[in-house]
Amino acid sequence: RIPMPVDIYGEQRKNSMGVNFSNEDDIRQLAEDINAHKGPWKAAPLVPGAKIGKETVKVTDPADHRRVVGEWIGGDESVVDTAITNAVAAQPDWDRVPAEKRAQIAERAAEMIEANRGEFVAMCVREAGKTLPDAIAEVREAADFCRYYAGMARKLFGQPEDMPSPTGETNRLFLNGRGVFVCISPWNFPLAIFMGEVMAAVLAGNTVVAKPAEQTSLIGYAAVKLLHEAGIPQHVLQFIPGDGASVGAALTRDPRIAGVAFTGSTETAWVINKTLAARKGPIATLIAETGGQNAMIADSSSLPEQLVKDVMASAFGSAGQRCSAARILFIQDDVADRVIEMLGGAIDELKVGDPGLLSTDVGPVIDHEALEGLQKHVDRMNREAKLIRKATVDAEVAEHGTFLAPHAFEIPSLDMLEREEFGPILHVVRWKAGELDKVLDQINATGYGLTLGIHSRIDDTIAYVQKHARVGNCYANRNQVGAVVGVQPFGGEGLSGTGFKAGGPHYMLRFATERVLTVNT
Ligand code: GLU
Repeated sequence: RIPMPVDIYGEQRKNSMGVNFSNEDDIRQLAEDINAHKGPWKAAPLVPGAKIGKETVKVTDPADHRRVVGEWIGGDESVVDTAITNAVAAQPDWDRVPAEKRAQIAERAAEMIEANRGEFVAMCVREAGKTLPDAIAEVREAADFCRYYAGMARKLFGQPEDMPSPTGETNRLFLNGRGVFVCISPWNFPLAIFMGEVMAAVLAGNTVVAKPAEQTSLIGYAAVKLLHEAGIPQHVLQFIPGDGASVGAALTRDPRIAGVAFTGSTETAWVINKTLAARKGPIATLIAETGGQNAMIADSSSLPEQLVKDVMASAFGSAGQRCSAARILFIQDDVADRVIEMLGGAIDELKVGDPGLLSTDVGPVIDHEALEGLQKHVDRMNREAKLIRKATVDAEVAEHGTFLAPHAFEIPSLDMLEREEFGPILHVVRWKAGELDKVLDQINATGYGLTLGIHSRIDDTIAYVQKHARVGNCYANRNQVGAVVGVQPFGGEGLSGTGFKAGGPHYMLRFATERVLTVNT
């Protein structure tokens, strides 16, 4: 049995510090830091010995597509081939570097992320359309992943575990890296999830080829540059921007890779799984964190003010672009009219606009393709469901950015929804006393199992819901987003992912292989 402490640092482990938004000096400092970094930023493959193309892709600000944020050069099949050759050659030596040394590099990286917060916040705002509080949280989470997995590396990979010796032999169990890992990360957490996947893989003794989401290639590049500076060798961590169909496909079909860590849509996870299965070579591990069709359930004992505040944060925070976001509110009919009215009032108050302003609640969605898909769903809901409220968006704001007004619709049942809609759209379904099981059955029947919110002042109801819902993260009487590294291990089951949970004590085990040495003494 491998010891798996829940908190490796015990009392001492601390999460990264935030910004005190009520302190004027802190805010002024933050504004100065951000203003010092306006880009334009650049990205290109970081693959020693590869022939890099010349064609560039322009990146525009989702809040105003007239603003060019930077440009990047993507990789191709030959860059992928060189990267994997490098990674295969470098892995055995990297695996033999003591875990302590690898952990120290990760801790240095955490310090450097915090020291460069201004630039990373600016990039998250301008390339990914994140609001300032979300961008700050993103930088903190990236540093948290580095420190948490550093501690886990020491604990799990620092020394072999002695096994029993009933036959007089000595038996020792070692954890090693599996080989070459491909890390494919999403645009909605372009720094935190990118770093989380990469650091877990690298700290476990693997070499890594990382492909960021196309939309956030600039942030991915800056992250890898920082990790190289912190001490991760260039052959151990390589970087290839590009689209899934070319670079992603070439990476995942290569028979030399040992595993893939992927965060993104369920559909893409199926494609990767199939690609891995079709190739010859080591049976590859797939660690996938995918989508959700997340609900919040509220009964008639819930506190309406608290409930509405938490629904707003869960459904419209980050413009609904979190896989943890609430898509459906199940509200008990005794209190539904009052809660729906309050919800409408709260939506009226939302400020949609430039994510670089502290007054903004909801920023843009990531790009035109996302906006079109969401708009299609809104059009369908406008025809088939009852509109509760649509937030207002200034015409001037909407003209140049990809903004979707937050919407809430009342629908008769969850069955009306075809898929996860990754944006600021909430659906409200009424339920009657005695129908809690029916609600839970509907939620479980989606096949997803990521987050669930429950608002109730009845402890037994909370316990009952947790016991019967097949979800990875259940939150009671609070919002259901923003899991904290090392505190709320995050990830789902079923269509929502493979586990183990990111930021949890078991995650790094999926990047490892076990070896046993038996010595006849
Ligand atoms: N970990 C994030 C949260 O708890 C969500 C991650 C994601 O959207 O992929 O809200």
